[in-house]
Amino acid sequence: RAMRLLGAYCHYTERGAQPGEPRPDPLMGEFGRAFTDHMLECAFRQGEWQAPRIVPRHALALDPGASSLQYGLQIFEGMKVYRPKRPHWNAPTPDVVRLFRPLENMRRLYRSAARLALPLFDAHAMLQLLEEYVRVESAWVPQCDADEEGLTPALYLRPTLISTDARLGVRRPSEALFYVIASPALGSYYSSSNNTAAAGVTLFATDAFARAWPGGVGDAKCGGNYALGLVAQELAITEGCQQVLWLDAQQRVTEAGVMNFFVVFDDGAVCTPPVDTGMILPGVMRDSVLQLIRSGTVGAAPGGRAWRVHERALPIDELTRGIVSGRVVEAFGTGTAATISPVAGIRYREREYRFEARARPLSTALKRALDHICYGDESALEAHPWLHPV
Ligand code: PMP
Repeated sequence: RAMRLLGAYCHYTERGAQPGEPRPDPLMGEFGRAFTDHMLECAFRQGEWQAPRIVPRHALALDPGASSLQYGLQIFEGMKVYRPKRPHWNAPTPDVVRLFRPLENMRRLYRSAARLALPLFDAHAMLQLLEEYVRVESAWVPQCDADEEGLTPALYLRPTLISTDARLGVRRPSEALFYVIASPALGSYYSSSNNTAAAGVTLFATDAFARAWPGGVGDAKCGGNYALGLVAQELAITEGCQQVLWLDAQQRVTEAGVMNFFVVFDDGAVCTPPVDTGMILPGVMRDSVLQLIRSGTVGAAPGGRAWRVHERALPIDELTRGIVSGRVVEAFGTGTAATISPVAGIRYREREYRFEARARPLSTALKRALDHICYGDESALEAHPWLHPV
């Protein structure tokens, strides 16, 4: 990790630090604490999007009555820019940087905007703004070397859309601000100090708190969905777990913390809850994983059987019984921040259900396939169709 930090720092200094510019620092080891030096902003006023600007990162001046602050009229996205791997540590830094399926994130931002009554936009035009911003900040996309295992360095982008409308009446805002900030990230989303990424997360399954409900906003990426999870997350920690396994009113699993959830059976069946219920955020990584499995990219299950995907409801009792009987052999979460996060065990009603096998054939194969795509050293023209070079 020290080498990684050093590498990022060297890459930064190669570019030439500007006076007063922040430098990559040890905060880069902690997700979301270090930021790049520019932001993109584009205001919406009088029914129209105004000219976008890329400016030094700055604090926002917001009326204290703005309905983003008062009523949570706020949505966001999370996406990553990757730099191809260097074949060896002193090979030149590849110039190209690539977004991963960025249009999917812009389309999800659009759907979130529609649900939260925020102004709509052209997803392709928004993507062009992002590309321009990434070009300006490209030197901040960390380098990844061929021999580095377990680290997933990338530049994390946080497109955000907030209401700046300053009337206290609860109403569709007439003014809004779209902005993008970025944070260089070296490793996994979860703290690497306890080596959780490799050991797997332990989940605390509970229906004492709800993340989403029918007709709610569980399928939108709005700030309130994360605020309401914090005390449940703290409870999970006091129970010796890392994340909450969210259950619905029928005691079926929905999501794991801020990840989509997958369960693997010993006959090669792979199950994940369907997203058409409105209770689950349709993850870009979830969709990518489904495509990788369905297309046969990750090969066959142990014993040569093909993996078979089922998007279906998964009762927590079926899951815990399956772990005990050995029918459920693997579980993992998917998301942009952590990519694939294996599950080591589940705590439910005072009992702990741990996965015996550490082989994890599917999550290991998926992680390898995704790393290969994201860090593949093909030239920009031959890159995987999911990669969007800028
Ligand atoms: N569920 C929730 C609640 C999330 O916040 C995220 C992260 N955006 C995900 C799932 C995974 O989505 P994605 O694969 O697009 O990162």
